[in-house]
Amino acid sequence: MNKKFKYKIEEYAEKAIEQAKKIGEPVTCRCGETPGGTKHIENFNDNIRSYFIYLAVKEKGYPARHIQTRDNMDPFRKLPSGFFDLNKKWHTSSLKLIKEYNKYVGTPLYFIPDPLGCCENYAEHFRKIYESECDLMGLKDTQYFSTEDLYRTGKFNPYLKKIFEKAELAREIDLNIENTKPKDYIPV
Ligand SMILES: [Zn+2]
Repeated sequence: MNKKFKYKIEEYAEKAIEQAKKIGEPVTCRCGETPGGTKHIENFNDNIRSYFIYLAVKEKGYPARHIQTRDNMDPFRKLPSGFFDLNKKWHTSSLKLIKEYNKYVGTPLYFIPDPLGCCENYAEHFRKIYESECDLMGLKDTQYFSTEDLYRTGKFNPYLKKIFEKAELAREIDLNIENTKPKDYIPV
């Protein structure tokens, strides 16, 4: 592993342990993934960084968990020009199919049909492929959470309430991290 990268990972792991000790909790290393199409190496970057920190925390003898949220309530943008089926065979999207899927723009990925019809919905198709790839890459210890499930079961409710109650502060924090959002954006 690159020395500079290893140093950063160690630094983050130590910081995470320090904070977790204050609240008496294990370290949680989280990454997220939008099941919107076939993934490229940059998507995997998010996953691998949090996983390395997770491993570094464990190596230092502190309890940790690695979680990944499937952001399957993210809005659909467009059908990719091609994608894999569950047997890793490539399918090129026809112009007709791309046009047909345009009507779903803005709809949560969980509520859109799988373009190949083999899974429950669009998000599930790409979720299955990505998670099997993460497993193949050796990221064995990941706990997966689906945002659709978290919304439906009300697990987000107390946090959503807090964000709405303190919308100004939430916006300020969010804009410090991401400056691509409009000024009246509420981060929910
Ligand atoms: Zn499928």
